Amino acid sequence: MTKDYFILHGNCIPVKGATRSIICDLQLGKYKYIPNELYDILNLSREHSITDLEEKFDLSEDGSLFHYFEALVKSGYGIFTNTPELFPVLDLEFATYSEVTNAIIDYNSTSTYNLISVIKQLEGLVCEAVQIRNFDGLNIDILEKISTTFSESSIPIFEIILKHDIIVEGRLESILENNSRFRYVIVHSSPVDKSIEIKNSKVHFTKKSIDSSSHCGQISSFFFTVNIESFTEALAYNSCLNKKISIDTNGEIKNCPSFEKSFGIINNTKLVDVLRNLEFKKVWKINKDQISTCKDCEFRYICTDCRAYTKNGGLFDKPQKCSYNPYIGEWEN
Ligand code: SF4
Ligand code: SF4
Repeated sequence: MTKDYFILHGNCIPVKGATRSIICDLQLGKYKYIPNELYDILNLSREHSITDLEEKFDLSEDGSLFHYFEALVKSGYGIFTNTPELFPVLDLEFATYSEVTNAIIDYNSTSTYNLISVIKQLEGLVCEAVQIRNFDGLNIDILEKISTTFSESSIPIFEIILKHDIIVEGRLESILENNSRFRYVIVHSSPVDKSIEIKNSKVHFTKKSIDSSSHCGQISSFFFTVNIESFTEALAYNSCLNKKISIDTNGEIKNCPSFEKSFGIINNTKLVDVLRNLEFKKVWKINKDQISTCKDCEFRYICTDCRAYTKNGGLFDKPQKCSYNPYIGEWEN
């Protein structure tokens, strides 16, 4: 039986860019390029039959629309149907119960604040992921203490960036064997580049030196995330800073360690009090539709963001460390 309509699956969302569009499959975590003309057609395909669309877009003669739809069906992005109204549209509202979902804690040999007490405060805030970054070498006993605190906490995801040290490398394995919460470990300034897995952790040793927070903010397709949670968050909020709290190496509480603005020193300010400050939450709402160039990019809801390092230093300028040009559809570097 002929089916009159084509629809995308509910979890497949098209996003239009300046030169091309993509369809994001939020369930399978992939995306597919399509021409902008097809994006415009797909926006109408629930309400208009294929024949109507062919007439409307003057494609009746060449049959190309049917072939496009057929290719989308074959690659699992949509279906032909006679009852498009029976297929629900996905609710794209972002929802989370956590007061903060993620935190970056920079801790150096010169840092004087109590890291364990910070982790306990984050646990009280139902934080879901914590990244600790060490630039100049971390005492192995502190690493053990951090590991124990995390394994006894309810924080599900823990990442650490630390400087290579012979003693650390020698004991890292037993620390990771005893802690299933470590997701990623990056060991910088290492004599070799290598990647290994220990229990649940992916451990990357890199020769690169990560000696300050200025190494953050890289944008690349490698970091694109295609899932319902990050997509819906990026539609309405900042994909890096929303529900994030950070502490820099001096103990200053900030949105991001690379920001100038401090909301207090952790030794005498509670994280919960900073989260009550509306000024702190202002950057959470800067989404990619407000950012120059990004607003015209087809990757804007799957890409991360950086508000600390921007092209002209403005809060609404494109991330400085992105080489993608959506106006020609190419990575320039
Ligand atoms: S705003 Fe930029 S520098 Fe700050 S945490 Fe995000 S990506 Fe890193
Ligand atoms: S232009 Fe903006 S949205 Fe596009 S890849 Fe670069 S940072 Fe991401």
